[in-house]
Amino acid sequence: MKKLNIEDIEKIFKRPLISLVSEACSIHQKEFPHGKIQASSLLSIKTGGCPENCTYCPQSAHYNTGVSKSSLLTKDEVIQAALKAKEMGANRFCMGAAWREIRDGVEFDQVCELVSAVSNLNLEVCCTLGMLTGTQARKLKSAGLDFYNHNIDTSPEFYDKIVQTRTYSDRLETLLRVRQANLKICTGGILGMGESDHDRMSFIQQIVNMETIPESITINMLVRTKGTPLENVAPIDPLDIVRTIATIRILAPRSMIRLSAGRTSLSSEAQFLCFISGANSIFLGDKLLTSPNPDFSEDQQLLEKCGLSFSQVNENESHDL
Ligand code: SF4
Repeated sequence: MKKLNIEDIEKIFKRPLISLVSEACSIHQKEFPHGKIQASSLLSIKTGGCPENCTYCPQSAHYNTGVSKSSLLTKDEVIQAALKAKEMGANRFCMGAAWREIRDGVEFDQVCELVSAVSNLNLEVCCTLGMLTGTQARKLKSAGLDFYNHNIDTSPEFYDKIVQTRTYSDRLETLLRVRQANLKICTGGILGMGESDHDRMSFIQQIVNMETIPESITINMLVRTKGTPLENVAPIDPLDIVRTIATIRILAPRSMIRLSAGRTSLSSEAQFLCFISGANSIFLGDKLLTSPNPDFSEDQQLLEKCGLSFSQVNENESHDL
């Protein structure tokens, strides 16, 4: 597919919101006609003490946020959490570890065991473990991993204001290794970190210009955490989130778009607009790693009011991208 330049993105992103949302909604209805929202659950399997300095993250060892460091959860703990998530209606279980990269050895082997154990529960499995080598990606795939999450966070131009301990190309290279191992990609970023419209367009450009458009695109809203450098950044206008999601839906018609961290800061009306504009996946459970997330019953009520319902396993994902 032709690579899009920033002007191509701008022509869509800068349209009057009403016409942008209306087109995104028609595309969304055509590709996902059944009003289903895919539900995932995210568990922190190793929390805190991360050597990276991502300025948005409460788990970075560089900031004093009150998050304490823990070691890798046991298989029993993870299985219990996965069963609970399944009972709630999640069909994908994501495991996140606060590592710069996963090292070969005991912990990597344990993570492979966790992946197999969750996969055996008939759940789709996703992991986010930091940077990966090609061999590790292939081993995770053999263990039963379906998706690997690795966010590009923002635009290449804004990236070094947000993270200094790794580069944008480090992120892209890991994503390439993930794709070469035939894993599905989940990637995206965080809105509301002080980025400009240009950064949002450039972030979208990076995603839609990947060799294969990611199957899962995750849109987070910054959760401003005390102790992090971004704790006082001005909140984003929810309509800017809607604009970003609508643009992505037009350019990535068949991908799942996940409204992720920061949903507690959005009103029901704002979340409804995000669903109309193409978001069709959320995380369930009252915690997302270390950040708050709406209660399950709140989400059930919201979906019901919107005329939406949770999808069964893979119901929304019959598309080949
Ligand atoms: S976002 Fe991930 S890599 Fe960055 S500090 Fe937090 S846990 Fe570490």
